[in-house]
Amino acid sequence: MRTVAVVPAAGSGNRMSRERSKQYLSLGRMPILVHTLKVFDECPHVDALLVVVPPQDIEVVRNTILAPWKLKKVTGVISGGKERQDSVLAGIEAMDSKADIVIIHDAVRPFITIELISKCIRAAGEEGAVTVGVPVKDTVKEVAPDGRVIRTCDRSLMWLTQTPQAFRRDIIESAHRAAVRDGFRGTDDASLVERLGIAVRMIRGDYDNIKITTPEDLLVAEALLSASQQAKG
Ligand code: C5P
Repeated sequence: MRTVAVVPAAGSGNRMSRERSKQYLSLGRMPILVHTLKVFDECPHVDALLVVVPPQDIEVVRNTILAPWKLKKVTGVISGGKERQDSVLAGIEAMDSKADIVIIHDAVRPFITIELISKCIRAAGEEGAVTVGVPVKDTVKEVAPDGRVIRTCDRSLMWLTQTPQAFRRDIIESAHRAAVRDGFRGTDDASLVERLGIAVRMIRGDYDNIKITTPEDLLVAEALLSASQQAKG
């Protein structure tokens, strides 16, 4: 079973209120993007890595990120699109024809582990479509734009959805093709599969697998990194 990882890293970083996109910011001694790519590079179940970046960054990512950090499984640096969904599609279209499983993971989630990637890949091979997530701890309410509470959700059924998400190649290709055809926009890849009536399995991940989106997230990430370094001694 050949597995290709697609890492969308073509976000602009507006919410970070900094000039540099968040995937290039330093976390400890490495850029966030390197933390993420290294875990996939070291996972024995991943055969190749495709990184999707803004078109103007392709050369700089090759020269300042991939070459110095010796990421040996990166087989392509692809030009991303306007939204995350466009960037993932660009990665899927650039995949070699021999890929059986595609695992998609946000560049800005550097606390991913080899164990979770492996679990996801194994489950996608067995079930076709999987996502990682964690049960919500807070009560979730649906709220109208004017602030009126519409309803309170059954908390025991609610999960916060993260990446990685992994799929059999034919499933994710047809889901993205159908989304383009129908003009559907989703905030994750699993939702593109769900709308075709294909079952997606939720796998329990880690609360630490945070997405670094705002300056506050970077502070949390620094604390998580130093805690994990202390634990390793
Ligand atoms: O936008 P969001 O914070 O959900 O981004 C999640 C991931 O998608 C990030 O790693 C970001 O770089 C990537 N992305 C992308 N192309 C875009 C927008 C976001 O690859 N146009």
